[in-house]
Amino acid sequence: MIMHLKKTILLTVALASFSAFSADTVTVISRPDISATNTFYLGNRLPLLPARFIALPSGAVQPRGWLLELLKRQRDGLCGNLGEISVWLQKDDNAWLSKDGKGKYGWEELPYWLKGYIQLGYVLNDPKIIAESKIWIEGAINSQRADGDFGPDQRFDDDGSRDYWANMLMLFCLQTYYENTHDPRVLDLMTKYFHYQLTVPDEKFLTHYWQKMRGGDNLYSVYWLYNRTGDAELLKLADKIHRCTANWELKDDLPNWHNVNIAECFREPAEHFLQTHDEKELQATYADFNEVRKRYGQVPGGMFGGDENCRPGYTDPHQGVETCGMVEQMLSDELLMQISGDPFWADQCEDVAFNTYPAALTPDLRALRYLTAPNMVVSDSKNHAPGLQNSGPFLMMNPFSSRCCQHNHSMGWPYFTKHLWLATPDNGLCAAIYAANEMTAQVGHGVPVRIEETTHYPFEEQIKFTLHTDGAVTFPLYLRIPAWCKAAGILINGQSVNAAIAAGKYVRIEREWQNRDVVTLALPMEISTRQWTANHDSVSVNYGPLTFSLKIGERYEREDSSRTAIGDSAWQKTADPSKWPSFEIYPTTPWNYGLVLGDARKTYTVKKLAWPKDDYPFTPENCPLEIVAQGKQILEWTMDKHGLCALLQPSPAASSEPTQKVTLIPMGAARLRISAFPTVSDAPGAHQWHAALNVAPGKPAYQASASHCFSGDTLDALSDGLDPQNSNDHDIPRMTWWDHRGSAEWVQYDFGAPKKISSAEVYWFDDTGDGQCRVPASWRLLYKSGDRWVPVGAAAEFTVKKDDWNRVEFPAIETTQLRLEVQLQPQFSGGILEWKVN
Ligand SMILES: [Zn+2]
Repeated sequence: MIMHLKKTILLTVALASFSAFSADTVTVISRPDISATNTFYLGNRLPLLPARFIALPSGAVQPRGWLLELLKRQRDGLCGNLGEISVWLQKDDNAWLSKDGKGKYGWEELPYWLKGYIQLGYVLNDPKIIAESKIWIEGAINSQRADGDFGPDQRFDDDGSRDYWANMLMLFCLQTYYENTHDPRVLDLMTKYFHYQLTVPDEKFLTHYWQKMRGGDNLYSVYWLYNRTGDAELLKLADKIHRCTANWELKDDLPNWHNVNIAECFREPAEHFLQTHDEKELQATYADFNEVRKRYGQVPGGMFGGDENCRPGYTDPHQGVETCGMVEQMLSDELLMQISGDPFWADQCEDVAFNTYPAALTPDLRALRYLTAPNMVVSDSKNHAPGLQNSGPFLMMNPFSSRCCQHNHSMGWPYFTKHLWLATPDNGLCAAIYAANEMTAQVGHGVPVRIEETTHYPFEEQIKFTLHTDGAVTFPLYLRIPAWCKAAGILINGQSVNAAIAAGKYVRIEREWQNRDVVTLALPMEISTRQWTANHDSVSVNYGPLTFSLKIGERYEREDSSRTAIGDSAWQKTADPSKWPSFEIYPTTPWNYGLVLGDARKTYTVKKLAWPKDDYPFTPENCPLEIVAQGKQILEWTMDKHGLCALLQPSPAASSEPTQKVTLIPMGAARLRISAFPTVSDAPGAHQWHAALNVAPGKPAYQASASHCFSGDTLDALSDGLDPQNSNDHDIPRMTWWDHRGSAEWVQYDFGAPKKISSAEVYWFDDTGDGQCRVPASWRLLYKSGDRWVPVGAAAEFTVKKDDWNRVEFPAIETTQLRLEVQLQPQFSGGILEWKVN
């Protein structure tokens, strides 16, 4: 008997290793094939283009590891308790609970919060959250009126047109509820509502700012319903929504530069592409993304500077982005994965989720701030405008404040969890975004599988998938290989998978899987640096998907939340600020370091520390990875006059300070951080930084505008009072018309009040030998006289000397606006270092 058993085991082992490699089909692909249709999960119904991936119902993916800990903190923190704080969530006089849509509180706040809160209830399987959510869901369902409209009856004063924006959010909440209950009232409500929307004339539909920008959210829900009911009228509505939404398909431009609108709405053309199959629409979404990153996103962390809006000239990594912007970007990435199948969007989502979003809240997730920037060395209740666009305490960690983000942040991690896994058209599953979880889904010919994904990723290089099935089951398993990973490897039950695994692709493994099969994905990480040429050649340091920041000592100072809230905040009478304090965070250690770069991969070392006992890695004390780097202080780098860390100046910076070991921690763990570093060097070419520049930029003598200004430059340079050493002076700010070449261009001063002028001096930027800017072919000056531009009556010529001031005198004029027109040399661009008028 014993002998017999032994033989059987040997035989089984031999067969297992044999089948792992002969019967398995392993391919490396760029996108999932869409010729098959998933039998278990609803993809897109014809004539919509089939989805490359299909979302699993919420609740199918249960978080584990740090993600579970984080979601528990969200439950116990602000999101889970916002109902006792926010005035917009109180049930008394709430239009979201009234039958006729009347009531004091009835706009975006409630559904912003509920969108994440109800999803949180299902991913945590939390009966209390689900029960509380249902009160609001019932309120929405019961509010449907005879004409099909529902929810608070918000109208605009000027033309009486309806504001559909908040309903767009409630539709997401209803879908989550439906996916978990299959309550037919949801399909009924949505059908009637969308038929009602069809009856609204175009000129009354999606009027006014927010809803006009955000029609893509309405569109998403129309397709969601169409896939479930096949009601052809819905496709007419989809076209109408697209027609009435702002045009997100402009060439090299966006219809709007508010950070949240960008992160949320740039996906609208890609959504509509599902209906038109017009590849140009999908590409418009990529073009929007790239244009924003080119102009304002030359920074680490996956986001961009938009501290309310993106502003020309405000491109330094000290510009912030809204917490709403982060979670909207993550959701857009998750949806674009399904539309395009492009693994780029999963990489992008991880970038924001791991590096930017965790630092927007305090570690206990009980307070959050409106704005977070890649370089921020103080988080306080002061006003930082106009360094940041908004005036008010926009850097304060305050649970009573940041009205939109306070509610909308809720969706970040729950939606992230839901989209860790996606179903594939060929009845398989794709591990799309990586974090520990346990997922249950139908595969193959209709067999349920449960897959435990065990890992500390992104703090660990290995991800282990353990399959649980009742018997053998054949299906394809897709694993995403991140673009940063050059040497990924896969083991099945300890045996290496032989395939040409490539970064930025998927490995598809079709196999007859057995209960307790184990797939191990190795994603070796290495230190790499990324140079941000548009931000003065600053660098960021990466290790796998993580970007690292300087470890800055953080001192938390407790404040009264009711006294440090942004002006538009409101809270319930019973909300207790002593139970929900706000915090300022101040640095206790120097932050003005530049990196001695050398070959960072060889000279910098990664320190792997113990995994935190509380499973929460996003604090300076807890994070299990550090990088020991080399740096020097740059004493001239100080705070600027707006209370932000001063703008970066050119790298490499000169520093005579001693080289020190500096500790870097994951950016997501650093609420105070420098993550776009200058470099330092002793070499002769190193740039001397000027402390004066820390206060001068942002305080030009005159307000300026231009036909065009390169995103890395600033119009403030024109009158910042910093005299150039020569025309190729890279140590002071400049304005250039780059990348316009050979064209006629202009810059203009607006004096506000009439100014008497009789001379002007220009110092041209000319980087012959380095770049493509030259002194212009010619120029002239014009002043505004009434409605006309009149040339000044200069007697002498307008010179175009390099390395010198070009002075011109003319009979005195009095004007409010002066314009300098240039004709650029053929093939070349040009710019100005300083322009004085007297
Ligand atoms: Zn917000």
